[in-house]
Amino acid sequence: MRHASDEPMSAPFSPAKQAATTDRLQQLLEGSYIDPETGAPVTIATRSLLIADSIAGDESALVDGLGFGHRLAVVSDPSTAAVLGARVEAALKGKYEVLSLVLPADPHADDVTVAKLRAAAGPADAYIAVGSGTINDLTKYASALDRKPYAVFATAPSMNGFVSLTASITVGGHKSTLPAQPPAGAFFDLGVLAAAPERMIRAGLGDSICRTTAQADWLLSHLLLGTAYRELPFDLLRDDEPQLLAQAEALLKGDLEAMRTLTRTLLLSGFGTAIVGSSAPASQAEHLVSHYIDMLAQPPSPALHGEQIAVTTLSVARLQHAMLAKPRMELAADREGADEIAARFGKELADSVLEEFAHKRLNREKADALNHVLARDWTAFVRVSRPCCCRSQRSMRRCGRPARRATQPTSASTAASMSRRCCMAAKFATASPCSTSPPPTAGWRRC
Ligand SMILES: [Zn+2]
Repeated sequence: MRHASDEPMSAPFSPAKQAATTDRLQQLLEGSYIDPETGAPVTIATRSLLIADSIAGDESALVDGLGFGHRLAVVSDPSTAAVLGARVEAALKGKYEVLSLVLPADPHADDVTVAKLRAAAGPADAYIAVGSGTINDLTKYASALDRKPYAVFATAPSMNGFVSLTASITVGGHKSTLPAQPPAGAFFDLGVLAAAPERMIRAGLGDSICRTTAQADWLLSHLLLGTAYRELPFDLLRDDEPQLLAQAEALLKGDLEAMRTLTRTLLLSGFGTAIVGSSAPASQAEHLVSHYIDMLAQPPSPALHGEQIAVTTLSVARLQHAMLAKPRMELAADREGADEIAARFGKELADSVLEEFAHKRLNREKADALNHVLARDWTAFVRVSRPCCCRSQRSMRRCGRPARRATQPTSASTAASMSRRCCMAAKFATASPCSTSPPPTAGWRRC
């Protein structure tokens, strides 16, 4: 059965349609979404979007609408090729010259694989990604370097980066968020997504709940350091996020409406980052801890990105609560030198870590200046910034725990262990539970 809104959302802006829908995703595609802060219409680069119970039979028409040229490099891995890639290729063959690029199993989103992919894609006019996190990141980044357009057919609702401007790529061992490009088209077959492994579905929910900690971090950075802050990414999520948290239990039962809400939430989150030109609204401390795990866990963490984010979000939320529960906050100058950084990250990574850390360093003078602001405004900071992790935690519980936690000391439990250690390293570790008191209103409205 096709849903009423299952037509590709790609209509151009028309004033008549402005009043026709309150659906923010539809508004974005039409160009009729109005920035709540500036009052101006918002534009996005993704031209076509389809979220449907099934898109079987529509694959070729969807690509036709993008005007990509004749030669298409279709990127998948053995798993995604089996669930959707072969179907997409079969639909495109005959009409297009299809270059089938099936990467080896469990590909890595790293610079080496990107180089191989670009070489293999050769003369293709455009890329088609069939997959989710890794395949999408690899294709997004390779296509951007080649200055060719790309589209994605999703196979799992596991992360929020489908339509973002950036790709998460490991370069020389350092996990980096690199400028890339959004897809011209993004297509979601809910039947395929609902059949994805449970861990990948749970991971999508995990990568969604970090809105709470990311918003609190970003707002604190704005209040304390004057970092530019926008309400727009959170306005986009205003209707869908509460529905998602309420439907968490149905996600693993093959419920297509719950899957639609998760897909919409992931897309709206990704569009929020694309519109403000920064990953800030969806990636703060919880993502840094996760990247630290990605770089340093030995043996390497087998957890999916969203699984780690689910754990690190709860850890960081506890840190934020502990910090914001203090009657006052005082910062100390950092003392880590090159030797300490090398001891923690290893010699290979130390230089790039030091380079990134350089502009965040807090010497005595800077610490004094910030402490002056904190002493003056701490009460106001607390009032507007306190996040609420409780509802997110309940939703993750309803979406189930890893089935064999004891015999798989891998995914979530490794992330939990690493996350705990990172938080302890941050010297704010606490076992205090989340506050159940109502959150303050200003700047924080949906807990
Ligand atoms: Zn993420």
